[in-house]
Amino acid sequence: MDDQDAPERGEFAFETQAIHAGQGPDPRTGAVMTPIFANSTYEQDAPGDHRGYEYSRTGNPTRTALEDNLAALEGAAYGRAFSSGMGAINTVMNLLSAGDHVVTGDDVYGGTHRLFTQVYEQYDVETSFVDTTDPEAVEDAMRPETELVWTETPTNPLMRVVDVQAVADVAHDHDALCAVDNTFATPYLQRPLEHGADIVSHSLTKYLGGHSDVVGGALVTDDEALDEQFGFYQNSVGATPSPFDCFLVLRGTKTLPVRMDRHCENARELAGWLDAHPDVSEVFYPGLERHPQHDVAARQMDDFGGMLSFELDATLEEASDVVGSTEVFTLAESLGGVESLIEQPAPMTHAAVPKAEREAAGLSDGLIRVSVGLESVDDLRADLDQAIDGALH
Ligand SMILES: *Cc1c(COP(=O)(O)O)cnc(C)c1O
Repeated sequence: MDDQDAPERGEFAFETQAIHAGQGPDPRTGAVMTPIFANSTYEQDAPGDHRGYEYSRTGNPTRTALEDNLAALEGAAYGRAFSSGMGAINTVMNLLSAGDHVVTGDDVYGGTHRLFTQVYEQYDVETSFVDTTDPEAVEDAMRPETELVWTETPTNPLMRVVDVQAVADVAHDHDALCAVDNTFATPYLQRPLEHGADIVSHSLTKYLGGHSDVVGGALVTDDEALDEQFGFYQNSVGATPSPFDCFLVLRGTKTLPVRMDRHCENARELAGWLDAHPDVSEVFYPGLERHPQHDVAARQMDDFGGMLSFELDATLEEASDVVGSTEVFTLAESLGGVESLIEQPAPMTHAAVPKAEREAAGLSDGLIRVSVGLESVDDLRADLDQAIDGALH
């Protein structure tokens, strides 16, 4: 990549960086889009004397463009891309040793919960799950051997909002790292490094890719030593993305600002409409003023995102009928693509959580989660209206 043509971090607005950061026209051909460097290996001029790339697990120019782009969007010095969000999260866990302790949210992403318990407990890394919207609960869970506080905001599926600065302060008081999974908000709405986090992780599969056509992950940081370790684990563990996948995510990040504006606008509109709907008993959206952490969200985020959940006065079966009878919303897990998705956490994303635990956590049978896409909001509203009416009346 011709780094001289790529804008310097901080020099341009987010929208400009989304399109240009990490990417200049290809110096050999002038190609405007970053080429897909489909190489496993690179010529050396003499043994050990290479032009920046030796082998594509270690580094690849298309991946470098993506890593520099993501770092710029988070306002960070360093970025690393992975083959999935879980590959990125696992890399942070690779920093720990037997006997270390982790504190995280009790409603953390299911895959993260599985990794921390079913994989890392066998290596004697123990995790405490607490309500991270309450910094005192985080403080109470800290131990002398706590090395990492892992948080996520907004959370899934109840859209709780964590005060990143408050949690980072607790972590730092105990010499632990603070990592934030910024998948739901994206750097367009929230940049956790500005609020004291040491590491930001992403599932690129969601809004950053944005088109439900790629799986990827990333870590960004301002700490050079941490970045070097992430690079060591990229190379040693090998959870790195293909150049084609990097190209797809680069294609997505260029339109992130315009997509997010519309995701937020459509979600805000639907949240307000659902809030007034007679069959809906609760709406979980940080943009609603009565959301318990609305003030934190308003301070920490530039807008409230495209994800929301709502609770119907309905049985599990009736709610299943609702999610099964939409025409514009697709019944599917995942989120963050241009198309609207609908799902029922109880039998789908949160099926592994026992019913009693699920209900204690506020995940009722009638809870429905939507990833609000970029279709006409009138069509989305009409679709939910006919699905709810058909299933409940
Ligand atoms: C999807 C997701 C992940 C995992 O990412 P993959 O790309 O599916 O491996 C992690 N955290 C959050 C919040 C997610 O939504």
